Amino acid sequence: MKHWRVTYNDIHNLIRKGTPKVAAEFNPDLLVAIGGGGFFPARVMRTFLREQTAKKTLQIQAIGLSLYEPVEGSTVEQIGQEVVRTQWLGPDAGKLLVGKRTLVVDEVDDTRKTLHYALSELQKDVDKELASYPESERDALRAATRFGVFVVHNKIKPKLAELPASIPYYAGEEVGDVWLDYPWEMIDIEEHDRLSGTQLI
Ligand code: 5GP
Repeated sequence: MKHWRVTYNDIHNLIRKGTPKVAAEFNPDLLVAIGGGGFFPARVMRTFLREQTAKKTLQIQAIGLSLYEPVEGSTVEQIGQEVVRTQWLGPDAGKLLVGKRTLVVDEVDDTRKTLHYALSELQKDVDKELASYPESERDALRAATRFGVFVVHNKIKPKLAELPASIPYYAGEEVGDVWLDYPWEMIDIEEHDRLSGTQLI
């Protein structure tokens, strides 16, 4: 598979370019970063959101998800089919989310399974929490609780999962089906930056 090296500055600038639309249309109250790739993008986005919205510094919550890596002997169907939680919001997840506009941030949308899992599980936390409110308050709270998605890169390819059409979706950049080499995965960052400058488009 073709590899494409991405630098810290590339990521910073894609987020800088993408944030005005996020701020104008979605204006999040809370960031949920999917670890580990969403951590750096969420932190950078906070800087630009603060600049664009004059809001106080947004809280960044972290969740950890990984695609289940099957053990030897697994069937083809099992391979790469399962997303597992390695970290989640605390016991008050629902309380944290209800009534807020939460932007879920990750570095890359590949098959979309991770985002699909994250959004459906966050929605379950919301639904559980809403059930504890009197019925008369639920509809208004449900309407005020929104999710959006920001990814630095979206791969243009057939996706294996979908997101609800009602969820605003923002991508810093759309790319082909290449393997992206992110700077935080590198040992020698100078060499990574140098080689990134020699890539042929
Ligand atoms: P999904 O297939 O669920 O959209 O993405 C699952 C995860 O696979 C991503 O969060 C990311 O950690 C990893 N991944 C997918 N494509 C790439 C890529 O091109 N480069 C790197 N470094 N990780 C990727």
